[in-house]
Amino acid sequence: MAERFRILLADKIPATGLAPLEGDRFELDESTGLEGEDLRDALSRYDGVIIRSSTTLDRAALEHADRLRVIGRAGVGVDNIDVQAATEKGIAVFNAPSGNTTSAAELTLALILAAMRKVAAADRSMRGGEWARKRFRGAELHGKTLALIGAGRIGGEVARRARAFAMNVIAYDPFLQEARARQLGIEMVSLQDALTRGDVISLHVPLTDSTAGLIGADEIALMKPSAVLVNAARGGVLDETALADALGDRRIAGAALDVYASEPLPANHPLRALDDVVLTPHIGAATLEAQHNVAYEVAEAVRDALLQDDYSRAINAPAVGGQLLRRLAPLMTLGTRLGQLGRGLAGTVQAVEVRYAGDAAEEALRPLTAAAMVGILMDIVGPDGVNLVSALHLAESRGIHISRVLLEPDADYGEYLELRIAGGGRETRIAGALRGDHPRIVRIDAYPVDVRPGGVLVILRNRDVPGVIGHVGTLLGEAGVNIGEYHQGRLEAGGEALAAIAVDERLTPELMAALADLPDVMSVRQVQLR
Ligand code: NAD
Repeated sequence: MAERFRILLADKIPATGLAPLEGDRFELDESTGLEGEDLRDALSRYDGVIIRSSTTLDRAALEHADRLRVIGRAGVGVDNIDVQAATEKGIAVFNAPSGNTTSAAELTLALILAAMRKVAAADRSMRGGEWARKRFRGAELHGKTLALIGAGRIGGEVARRARAFAMNVIAYDPFLQEARARQLGIEMVSLQDALTRGDVISLHVPLTDSTAGLIGADEIALMKPSAVLVNAARGGVLDETALADALGDRRIAGAALDVYASEPLPANHPLRALDDVVLTPHIGAATLEAQHNVAYEVAEAVRDALLQDDYSRAINAPAVGGQLLRRLAPLMTLGTRLGQLGRGLAGTVQAVEVRYAGDAAEEALRPLTAAAMVGILMDIVGPDGVNLVSALHLAESRGIHISRVLLEPDADYGEYLELRIAGGGRETRIAGALRGDHPRIVRIDAYPVDVRPGGVLVILRNRDVPGVIGHVGTLLGEAGVNIGEYHQGRLEAGGEALAAIAVDERLTPELMAALADLPDVMSVRQVQLR
């Protein structure tokens, strides 16, 4: 008789979403509210567990989960799962990244319409016994410009719907490929153009280091006085105080928010007192369909993993398991950091070539490519959005062209890894190598360097003349920033040089500007490696 799998439903999962697990190959037990010892004991008896956001699967909960092969999270965020602990135990973790796209896109349209036609304020006025038609004069969407900040899954669906309202759609998304923009009828523009041209500006980016505070006072100041700003992405992307000030001074016409920097939004928050803002309590995914879809999406993934050993949608990496994973671990960590640094220096990424020389030969290329792509995509989709197994698929779906080259063994370095990243009209090259088990960055573009791939790295290009290192050291010293390593490489004396500087903390924008202003400094970038 075929093996029968036991699945624990540890949170309430909509029954319709469990259809993929019907039939005699699966036995489903619902037991909600488990925690501590009870949860740990229960998990030891199951092949799979499906949760939503209530149950927390931390390291302790998974301690005796020796039989467990899959965790399914019916939703996007996996902050209630210790993915590292699961990976170490060889447990695949699946989430449902696209199940709520339609719901979030539809809510965005609801917010846009509500803000443009002042629906919520008009409703409040009616309930107060008024009939104030003049006060609620709005504007049509027809012929207006919708500026998307971020045009991934949800932004793309919002674009389609906005075009049905005869809006012109423009987007700022440095990682959007031209072909996809064309297909969605989106004009690609700079952030500044999006902010100045948009009649409606709608945010659809993940919360990452590069999007935190992306829309602050300076950005709002660029918007038209008639503009409406909508955020159904993540709270930290938008500076709420700056928005409240701008609305209070009538510098923009209105706003609509579903997400907040701190949730629940405090009861006395200034936004609650403003009339020109529509507020909803993070309900983007709160539809029957989205709840069904995320359950269905994850139930399918759990079924395919248990019945067919298909782990391709897992967010962790059981597919690169055992021996090879252990052997490649230091090199894969290096690959992820090289990817992060390369992406930070390249800006946009159209194509990536992964070049490897070392003992593991051919079989190492694919996992190393996945590790490098994790680093490249981390800042684009957010650290929760990409992992080893999903990285290649995600890169492909974003139109990033990937190639791999196995190099002849290198006399100087035993284990050598290089990324050549095409983007923004040029090629960025980053190479690393292992010294024993210790990873080092050994080349940036043509320049030889030697620096540890961790923490905050400042990459500075300068003319190779006396005094630059002194000036940089003095400036950082005066700002109280400690330098861990300083390595300058040059191709010829008196030409151009590149310095890789490891510092103990992120440099402020003012300090970055001061560095860029130093005599003989040509450019300066910083990248935080995790
Ligand atoms: P996605 O990964 O498909 O798309 C995000 C897009 O942002 C990508 O195209 C990426 O290239 C772009 N991007 C990344 N960094 C950028 C930057 N610095 N500048 C401009 N663009 C940048 O994600 P998605 O599924 O479309 O989700 C978008 C957002 O919506 C996320 O923040 C997600 O958490 C949020 N969300 C909210 C709700 C809700 O209930 N309100 C529901 C689902 C998703």
